[in-house]
Amino acid sequence: MGSVEKQTEVFDSEAASSMVKELRDEFLSGKSRSYEWRVTQLKNILKMSEDREQDIVKALHSDLAKPELESSIYEISMLKNACTLAIKKLKHWMKPEKVKTSLISFPSSAEIVSEPLGVVLVISPWNYPFLLSLDPVVGAIAAGNAVVLKPSEIAPATSSLLAKLVGEYLDNSLIRVVEGAVAETSALLEQKWDKICYTGNSRVGRIVMAAAAKHLTPVLLELGGKCPAVVDSSINLKVAARRIVAGKWGCNNGQTCVAVDYILTTKDVALKLVDALKHELEGFYGKNQLESKDLSCIVNSNHFARLTKLLDEDKVSGKIVHGGERDKAKLKIAPTILLDVPQDSLIMNEEIFGPLLPIFTVEKVESSFDVINSGTKPLAAYLFTDNKKLKEQFVMAVSAGGLLINDTVIHLAVDALPFGGVQESGMGSYHGKFSFDAFSHKKGVLYRSFAGDAPVRYPPYTNGKLTFMKALMSGSILGVLCALIGLSKN
Ligand code: NAD
Repeated sequence: MGSVEKQTEVFDSEAASSMVKELRDEFLSGKSRSYEWRVTQLKNILKMSEDREQDIVKALHSDLAKPELESSIYEISMLKNACTLAIKKLKHWMKPEKVKTSLISFPSSAEIVSEPLGVVLVISPWNYPFLLSLDPVVGAIAAGNAVVLKPSEIAPATSSLLAKLVGEYLDNSLIRVVEGAVAETSALLEQKWDKICYTGNSRVGRIVMAAAAKHLTPVLLELGGKCPAVVDSSINLKVAARRIVAGKWGCNNGQTCVAVDYILTTKDVALKLVDALKHELEGFYGKNQLESKDLSCIVNSNHFARLTKLLDEDKVSGKIVHGGERDKAKLKIAPTILLDVPQDSLIMNEEIFGPLLPIFTVEKVESSFDVINSGTKPLAAYLFTDNKKLKEQFVMAVSAGGLLINDTVIHLAVDALPFGGVQESGMGSYHGKFSFDAFSHKKGVLYRSFAGDAPVRYPPYTNGKLTFMKALMSGSILGVLCALIGLSKN
């Protein structure tokens, strides 16, 4: 375990370069490759999450007024689950995977060896600043890499706590935290990494990818976008409404990458859905929802201004059917529902990432899929229906990072599913075994002996050798036998 030092000196390109060199030298010593080192670090993350749960909850409250239940379950427990799974499965994940060989290499055996990439950079965002910082780090450590974590400056209490905890609990010769904003991140991005994992918006995603391209560094980009929820008729609206409310306002007050961004439904369902949502909101957060302690605040005044701009647009402000109240001093915006906002409004064209929920009506529920596909590919798309055919159409027609039918957000907690976006919502994925794979190189290894050294592939080339090689390449044993007979004639 390393010492705890507050980063006081300027962190520029030179400082970044010497840090990466130190980490690379240590990585090359082979220390992080051992199973023991990996498991020890993962256990230390688990211990840190347990020992310091209250400090983490406090930091998240300071940054986001995040309710304790949300911090404890959606950040700390999720991270602990990721660690526990990695610890349990690591031996199995690290084991080379035996694979079949082909006739062309007969006799031989083959395996896929997972090797660490080297020194990796993890850049994380402010909305789940604890989980989204350490969840990729768990994958990077499990895969045997050295890691630098750059948490978000927009959640300063969690960033500083992460620096302190990583200093106290983890092996700092291979795992570091660099705090800072654009200048520090830019200095980090100038360095040569073996992988960069970035979670955040797609504008910065492009900056990260351009910087990575200079060194041919692979990237895992966990981005966002507008996640739609399609609501069909003849469903249990009460359950649907509860699940939409829980996955929107109950997850960091809408500041979640997979929160429902907007709803698509038919006119006949829309009003009933609004009533059901209002009812559940009141049951969850009371009559004065702006004051509820169970709702996070907006992270800062810039995001507050961004959200109120969406709400105050002329063509949108008259469409509020619930909420709309705000308190600038406390950075609070009440859960707000809007009905029939125009498709060309700002709120329908930007990722909302906050407590506003527009409902957009369509003639037929099936047309929702065209509306979704007319935009950029979302990180998640949801459908509420009992109709089997509609489910099938949705799965076939809608391209998104992931799909969830009849609920919101909880697909993230299924570690057998990859979590990641597609096109504008990201590239690559992690969670469970996918996290280990995301930070590993899959090295194909073929083993041969000196026996069975058939001369057919060596010059001088003959027609017989050609026929035999063609048969071998086609994988047909019969063809090989025929060619052998042919060969023996030559
Ligand atoms: P953010 O502002 O905290 O930025 C993310 C990181 O990028 C920070 O560490 C920040 O320091 C760094 N950064 C900012 N500007 C930079 C620059 N010019 N150059 C280099 N680095 C820079 O977070 P955000 O972008 O506001 O996060 C919200 C977005 O992230 C949303 O779009 C959301 O959907 C997405 N998101 C995606 C996931 C996912 O898992 N796919 C999870 C959470 C958030």
